[in-house]
Order: sequence, then structure tokens, then C-alpha cells
Amino acid sequence: MALEVGIVGLPNVGKSTIFNALTAAGALAANYPFATIEPNVGVVSVPDARMEILHKFQKTEKMIPAALRVVDIAGIVKGAATGEGLGNKFLSHIREVDAVLHVVRCFEDSDIQHVEQSVDPIRDIDTIDTELALADLETVSSVLDKQQRLAKSGNKEAIALAEILAPAQKHLNEAKALRSLDYGGEAANEEARKVFKTLGLITAKKILYVANVAENDLEGKSPLVDVVRKRAADEKSAVVPVCGKLEAELSELPEADRNEMLASLGLAEPALASLTRGAYKLLGLQSYFTMGPKEIRAWTVHVGAFAPQAAGVIHTDFEKGFIRAEIFTIADLEKFGSESAVKQAGKVRAEGKNYVMADGDVVHFLFNR
Ligand code: GDP
Repeated sequence: MALEVGIVGLPNVGKSTIFNALTAAGALAANYPFATIEPNVGVVSVPDARMEILHKFQKTEKMIPAALRVVDIAGIVKGAATGEGLGNKFLSHIREVDAVLHVVRCFEDSDIQHVEQSVDPIRDIDTIDTELALADLETVSSVLDKQQRLAKSGNKEAIALAEILAPAQKHLNEAKALRSLDYGGEAANEEARKVFKTLGLITAKKILYVANVAENDLEGKSPLVDVVRKRAADEKSAVVPVCGKLEAELSELPEADRNEMLASLGLAEPALASLTRGAYKLLGLQSYFTMGPKEIRAWTVHVGAFAPQAAGVIHTDFEKGFIRAEIFTIADLEKFGSESAVKQAGKVRAEGKNYVMADGDVVHFLFNR
């Protein structure tokens, strides 16, 4: 199943505009069997120029890029954690996503009302962060309470859990996000992250800021975006500038007109393409490819995945009966001109079950049925 990112942000910052543009563009680029699941859930393809290179050397019936699920999570306002707005309803959605896209308003437009009457990205980020931290605090406090009681009777698991949750509670009490909490070592942090994930804690999730910029600031050079960039850097996160209004217009155009409009603006691709790739990277994902006359397809694996796991993404039988993977690189395909020429040159490698997949591998799996 595709991984899922949730779009959050204050009302009227452009979440739905960006969500709609993303899903409309995705629907154009690929016909997924599970296109729109619910009105606020969409499937977005991850644009990858390497697929076009493969297509130069392999005629095929269809091209299927990698995909992400995107959820538009409305309803976060000041006081949401205590039931304002849609209150707890949005929280259950956001607890389930793998990563968060935080849309921040960085455009001035007197026609579009801001809930706080002025444009101030950092204040907005703080408002959302505080609500999310309060929601996590509630979860952590109730679990910690129970574990501390169990810990008194010497329950080892409860003691370990309480040792992770007590600092988390303190951190959240200061309205800080759990992703910035350091347990003093990679192993300890990894252990804590597992617990946070099981509890569905929101502020532990990875985050990518989306600066909704004005039409005259497509590259995000205004001071409004600078402050978001600084904030993101402090959190070891990143910012993608996107002009929601322009992306909405682009997504409604037929491809030829869209390309013409992009060219007239001096852009190589819609900003949504880099947004989707940014989300993919944020999730620690990479692609490998399969190619043949029926389809050229990108498959998603975690960075560090072994060959059998990668095979399992196509089908669980591929993983169970894995024999070996035959792999070549796109660079060799370009160099030798065809798959058979790559083979003749001895550049198709046979890799076993301990092979760690590299980004962009072109693969055939051999397996026992
Ligand atoms: P949401 O409440 O965060 O989902 O916000 P919407 O996507 O509904 O957008 C709120 C309003 O802002 C709508 O009237 C949009 O047309 C407008 N809007 C969204 N993005 C932009 C933008 O980049 N520039 C301008 N000027 N208006 C925008």
C-alpha cells in the first residue's frame, strides 16, 4: 500500500487548493485503480524523469510512476486539541499518516481573510504546533500514568516505557515537538521513535513545510519564506515553495498548454512535482524500476531495503520464493543502447538476498513458484 502524507495548516492558507491541484495532476499523470478513495484522500504520482530515459530504450504499453496517498486534514484551529473546530475528529486522521505536509500562508491578499487577520508564518506554525503538542501530551500523559502504576510493581516493560514517556511528557509540556527530542544516542532515539509510532504521536512524525507563496514570488525569495526556511532548518526539515493559485490553474490545463505556460514562466515543471519528490524523500523512500513491453514501472522501497523485500513490493510470492535479482543501471542502458547489449557487455549483475537495493536499479526478479 502506498504511504500516506497528511496536509495540515490553519484554515484559508491554501490546503484544499494545493490538495486539489496535486490530485488533479496525479489523475492526469497516471490511472491508478484506487484514484480517489474519499473526497479528502487522493493518490498522487511521484514524477521521475528517469522513466522517460527508460522509455527511450524500451517500447511499452504503459508507464506507471510511484505513488503517494495524500490526505487533506482540515479543521486545525487554535483550541482544536480541546475540541474547537472539528476538534478530535481531525486528530484521528493525522495519527495515521506517515508524514506531515504543513502548509503555511506566505502570500498577501486582502481578498482572502486570514483567521488571525494578518500574514505571519511563524505565529501560524506555532499555533498548529501547539495544538498538535497538546494532543500528543494528552495521549502521553494517560499512557504514562498507567505505566507508572504498573512500574511500581516491578513490571520491566512498564519501567522501560515510562523511561521513554517521562521526558516526552516534559518536552510536550514546553509545547515542543517530539521530533526534536534527543535521547542521547541513535539506538535510544530509534527505540523511542518506535514507541511514538505505536502511540500515533503526531509531533514525532517527519514534516515538510509547504510555503504557499504569491504569484510574484514563485521561488520563495520573500522574507515571509525566509523565516519559514530558518524554522525548517532548525528542525532539520525543509521548505518547498508552491503557489497554490498558479498550481491550481496549471492542473486544469491540457498538457501542451501547461507546458507552454510553464515555459512562459521560466519553469521546468510544476512546483507540485518537487513537492511530491520532497515528500517521497522525507519518508526515506527510493524507487527501482521494472521494464518490459507491457509496462515500465517504478516501485517504492525504503532506503536500505534488501532485494527480497524489494521483490515483495511486487508480490509476496516474489519475496517468499526469491532466487536472485538481475540488475543493471540506467547509465549502462544509455551507454550500451539496449538491455541485450547491456547483457552482452556483462553489465547485468546477479544479486542475492543480501543485496541492498540502490536508487534507480533496473531489475528482473527470479523466483520459485
Ligand atoms: P484551506 O482552508 O487551507 O483549505 O484554504 P483554501 O485552499 O480553501 O484557500 C483559501 C482561499 O485562498 C481560497 O479562496 C483560495 O483560492 C485562496 N488561495 C489559495 N492559494 C492561494 C495563492 O497561492 N494565492 C492567492 N492569492 N490566493 C490563494
